[in-house]
Amino acid sequence: MSQGRLSREHAHTLDGQDELAPFRERFCIPKHKDGSDIVYFTGNSLGLMPKAARTLLNEELDVWAELAVDGHFEGPRPWYSYHENFTELAAEVVGAKPGEVVMMQSLTTNVHLLMVSFYRPTRERYRIVVEKGAFPSDQYAVQSQAQVHGFDPEDAVVELAPREGEDLLRTEDIEAYLEAEGDKVAVVMFGGVNFRTGQVFDLLRITKAAHAAGAKCGFDLAHAAGNVPLSLHDWGPDFAAFCSYKYLNSGPGSVAGAFVHERHAKDASLPRFAGWWGNDPASRFEMGDVFVPQPGAAGWQISNAPVFAMAPALASLRIFSEAGGMTRLRKKSVALIDYLLSLVDDIGTEHFEVISPRAEKDRGCQVSIRAKKDAKALRAVLQDHGVVTDYRPPDVIRIAPVPLYNTFDDVWRFAEVLRRSVQG
Ligand SMILES: *Cc1c(COP(=O)(O)O)cnc(C)c1O
Repeated sequence: MSQGRLSREHAHTLDGQDELAPFRERFCIPKHKDGSDIVYFTGNSLGLMPKAARTLLNEELDVWAELAVDGHFEGPRPWYSYHENFTELAAEVVGAKPGEVVMMQSLTTNVHLLMVSFYRPTRERYRIVVEKGAFPSDQYAVQSQAQVHGFDPEDAVVELAPREGEDLLRTEDIEAYLEAEGDKVAVVMFGGVNFRTGQVFDLLRITKAAHAAGAKCGFDLAHAAGNVPLSLHDWGPDFAAFCSYKYLNSGPGSVAGAFVHERHAKDASLPRFAGWWGNDPASRFEMGDVFVPQPGAAGWQISNAPVFAMAPALASLRIFSEAGGMTRLRKKSVALIDYLLSLVDDIGTEHFEVISPRAEKDRGCQVSIRAKKDAKALRAVLQDHGVVTDYRPPDVIRIAPVPLYNTFDDVWRFAEVLRRSVQG
């Protein structure tokens, strides 16, 4: 058995020193066929279920059973104002002020709803700047937004790519594009963390460059929310959207988040797709025929809250808050990834390479590995040994140890299977 830093004993020592270790108990950890806990490294895709999700969901089912329509105004958390349970919790996770964030609809829907307000192209200024290799749903969203306004996506959507031979997009290249071509750009719509490489973008610098060019700036934070600390209010983008089922552990297809910066909170002149839930609650039931948006992100709501999707989200966000928020989680996350990289580097680079950024500020929970031979087969071997990872064709395996429920021992077990699969 190997000794010292590479030994399993060392992983156990690190787990023993981990102040966040007790939070693992709060989640349902699926079992491997041999009866052990699986090593779950796909929290970037679908976070594990918080045990409290069942409790909170059952409470709402009981309210429905026992109070029915009166559940809107009675019961422990009346449905009429259910989204207000998230005012502080969701804002905390993304570094926003209460009122700048609302939990509503779903992610791509929110991207569209926010672009309706913030993508206001003119003949001179109509481009949408995105990262090349953005998540497909975002690509479809921006292309269709351009089309709705009568533009050809080939011309209107500009994809900024890493330099030849590089995997990561340089911030200075984004800035250079906006400096040169910014007067044609209506909106910069970037991911917070690239889903394939795990690269964390410098959202402050992107926001500044977008605004300096006279463009609006928005972010899709699907892979950033609950992964890395964010300071949306201070960084100052106009809008952002995020899902809650990846790092935020709220269950498949669960409710998403929408951020609208405070500077737009009371701007009733912003065009938007309106619905009754975005209306001022004081006059909502007057059923008048004139829409009066409530201030802040809540004014972008359309339909009444999907309470059964939101109950698990509430359970999960409470755990984030209890765990001390993103700053504390980030500390463990960095330690987990440092540990993972040191074990992976020890295996050598003959069979695979790490394509995620090495610099701490440029990476979050996710490490992407490019296999030089058969990535799909490697993923299958890992799976067979109880290590759940994810394969992105043609050659990438994504691994995301998360600080709330993963352990240093999980990282050790992963590295050991990886070592045997390439050396055996
Ligand atoms: C996961 C993800 C999506 C998924 O969109 P849904 O509307 O929730 O189905 C979209 N964009 C990005 C960047 C994602 O990571």
